[in-house]
Amino acid sequence: MGSRRAAWITLVVLLIGVLVLVVVLVPWRVAPLSVGGAVPDATRDFTPAELSRSAALAASIQPNALFSLAVSLLVAAALGLTAIGAKIITAVAAPLGGGWVWQVMLGSLVLAGIGRLATLPFSAYGESVLTRFGLSTRGWGLWAADVAKSFAIGVGLTALVMVILYGSMRMAPRLWWAIAATLVAALVVVGSFLYPVLIEPAFNRFESMPQSQLRSDLLDLAERDGVAVDDVLVADASRRTTALNAYVSGFGSTRRIVVYDTLVDSESPAVVETIVAHELGHAKNNDVLLGTAIGALGAAAAVIAGYLLAGWTPLLSRTGASSLTDPRSLGLVMFVLAAAGLILAPVQSLISRQIEASADVHALGLTRDPATFIEMQRRLGIRNIADLEPNQLYYWFSFSHPSTIERIATARDWAEVNRVPPP
Ligand SMILES: [Zn+2]
Repeated sequence: MGSRRAAWITLVVLLIGVLVLVVVLVPWRVAPLSVGGAVPDATRDFTPAELSRSAALAASIQPNALFSLAVSLLVAAALGLTAIGAKIITAVAAPLGGGWVWQVMLGSLVLAGIGRLATLPFSAYGESVLTRFGLSTRGWGLWAADVAKSFAIGVGLTALVMVILYGSMRMAPRLWWAIAATLVAALVVVGSFLYPVLIEPAFNRFESMPQSQLRSDLLDLAERDGVAVDDVLVADASRRTTALNAYVSGFGSTRRIVVYDTLVDSESPAVVETIVAHELGHAKNNDVLLGTAIGALGAAAAVIAGYLLAGWTPLLSRTGASSLTDPRSLGLVMFVLAAAGLILAPVQSLISRQIEASADVHALGLTRDPATFIEMQRRLGIRNIADLEPNQLYYWFSFSHPSTIERIATARDWAEVNRVPPP
């Protein structure tokens, strides 16, 4: 069987795999919401002052994020769809002999660096807005350190993926797609597994929640839920933000439930418990593992699609690279990845919103306390200055969670369906 034919078959199998995971394991029907009677209405739960503050933050920060995205795509296009990127790659690797490894590693660093510098003013403006609204507490020194660390981690990962891609092409010209797809998929799995122990500590310190009534209540809640949890970690989020949050990361032996110190220090135990009940939903449904599996199969499929498209040369010849194997095509590969990420963003957001809605229903079922759930959503909405009345397009594109108002309506529906006195 020819290599292209095998690649096509593998691609189809991988895409079917992604489709099966998305259709079967993503909770598309979030029960039990057969009533649907509670109409999302922001004015019911928030004061006009709270609503106008929310609208003011969104109006300051969302156009900025959009401009930043547009600039980063334009820069990636300029570097990937013209000969500029290839010239830069040749120039930066030349002093070191111009070998392919240097071209790939320094090329990744410099091309990503140009993109980072071009969007830096937007990041700085965004930070100044968050500071003005009292959400960010980190100061410019810590901001700069965070930006530098995120960039270093991002470039390191990009360079690693690119070395895998171009290295496989050179070592196995006919079967490189199979090698690269396997390695990239493995990197996604290992990366997600190690994320809590490798990446998160670069930004925050985590400590076990001290012995207290709250701690034992949270562990009791997990036990009642049948989720194996032997610790709850508290992150020193207050160094950076006043916002409230909690999350689950890792899987298997690295799985952890983390709550922000801002949450524990300022909210009632009942609110914290309801938030942790939502996180237990993620843990119980293995949502991190599901996301990792979809990501790994998707990444492998992307590598193979790249191999199959590489025979299509009009774009490649624009860059001045002789073939895909030539590391000077790196700018084009980075542009295609950025464009694909943009196109997939609404799908990713939709899947994420379904998973989050399911975790909300899990929390309601576990606590059977919709009044506290609504209070929790109100507190998160106010403290995090959530976008309470989002623009539909923005929502569709970038909301990883249902909106605050939708989540409150869900709790009211849940109360009605389960005949718990409606809050
Ligand atoms: Zn969640």
